[in-house]
Amino acid sequence: MEPPYVLGCSSCHEKAPGEGSYSRCADCGGFLEYTFDPEYLKGVQFKGPLTFWRYAPVMPRVEKAVSLGEGGTPYWKAERLGEHLGLKNLHLKDETRNPTSSFKDRSAALMMSDAVGKGFDSVVCATNGNHGASLAAYSAKEDVSCRILVPADLDLGKLAQMIASDAHVEEAGDGIDVAIEKARKIADETGAYQATTELNPLSMEAIKTISYELVEQSGVPDWVAIAMGSGVTIHSLWKGFTELEEAGKIDSKPRLIGVQAEGCAPIADAFNKHIEEPISLESGDTVATAIRVTKPMFGAAALRALEESDGLSVTVSDSAMIDYGKEIARHEGIFAEPASAASVAFIPELLEAGVIDGSDTVVSIITSSGLKTNDIIRSLNLRRKSPGLGIRLATKERILRRIATKKTYGYALWKELGKAMTLGAVYQHLSDLESRGLVASSAEGKRRYHELTEKGRKVLDALEDLQSLM
Ligand SMILES: [Zn+2]
Repeated sequence: MEPPYVLGCSSCHEKAPGEGSYSRCADCGGFLEYTFDPEYLKGVQFKGPLTFWRYAPVMPRVEKAVSLGEGGTPYWKAERLGEHLGLKNLHLKDETRNPTSSFKDRSAALMMSDAVGKGFDSVVCATNGNHGASLAAYSAKEDVSCRILVPADLDLGKLAQMIASDAHVEEAGDGIDVAIEKARKIADETGAYQATTELNPLSMEAIKTISYELVEQSGVPDWVAIAMGSGVTIHSLWKGFTELEEAGKIDSKPRLIGVQAEGCAPIADAFNKHIEEPISLESGDTVATAIRVTKPMFGAAALRALEESDGLSVTVSDSAMIDYGKEIARHEGIFAEPASAASVAFIPELLEAGVIDGSDTVVSIITSSGLKTNDIIRSLNLRRKSPGLGIRLATKERILRRIATKKTYGYALWKELGKAMTLGAVYQHLSDLESRGLVASSAEGKRRYHELTEKGRKVLDALEDLQSLM
């Protein structure tokens, strides 16, 4: 029997040549997407408990469901937070309750099921954090080798999750775009399964199940608020609501509120200027790494979803995200990351402006846990001050170890490190290390030689002690 769905290009509608090595449309570069036969949708019945796999009939078929217990997340009426904000019917969909504490477990579960069913033994993905953390966990369960490309600035907790599940993590550039391009090449060259959210259309099929769950848990709210990075999440939610309407399961759809960070708002800015394409940025400035996307691949799709839903797009400041992260935890006991808190932080302003009414039903999607992020931990004024810890530290540690074995100079170090960074970056690291008193330098002839100080030795010993505990 033919499956009730086809995979094709979202822009030129050219049918995709085959499944498995997911990428972009070969003709126009648009993203690939599954579409379901509306007649089929009308006959669909969901059976079994409220979990992610309850919605298997509206996802592309997989031979075996790989599961860590994803989906079926709680839906709460936020009584105390609602009262605090002056919004009687505020609800939270708590996606932090997924296995690795983010909504990306839905996509990782579906992709891993697809990969294993098709016989792949390795996967690759580019990620801003949550998706990689999730994919690493599902790969571990299936004994699949997992390669993850990340931008330089990554939340420490997400990196820890990847490393704990034995994924191979590589730094690729400053933004997610470079990492995505690299992941595309790696899948082509090595035959690894492409598990990048922006390239694999199963991500949309998985994330749309949040809408299916919401409707079963609550019916159709007036508003659904979600943070936007690449735009794929809001597009997927809208796809879910649209299918539900086509299937005759709902009579109306909610209005969407797409929230972005003030310092990185290519979609919100375009929406509010009535432009159909996102306004790409050279750099993004926000603590919310999960939504720091300067050239959103699904920006146009997100704009369409906002438009079709008669929705809104707003921006919030980093300090508002951090403050509302605290308010959500303080009033509802849910610890959200800044990007997730953004889906609540905009409420006072829209209430004040009369755009939303105090009696409207608003559902905010809390996509991921605050336990993973550097920023919230820092904002709680703990005495720990470790912003750049992680990958950057790993480079400095490698340089220190080199210098510990012998006195050396910048150019030689650069070669020994495999020229993996610019020569300028090596000099910068050396200068940082010297200003902290960890290395000392002296001129000999034309060269400046660096050697380890007593303090540098102690730091290396301490790092070894720590690593022996891991
Ligand atoms: Zn196309």
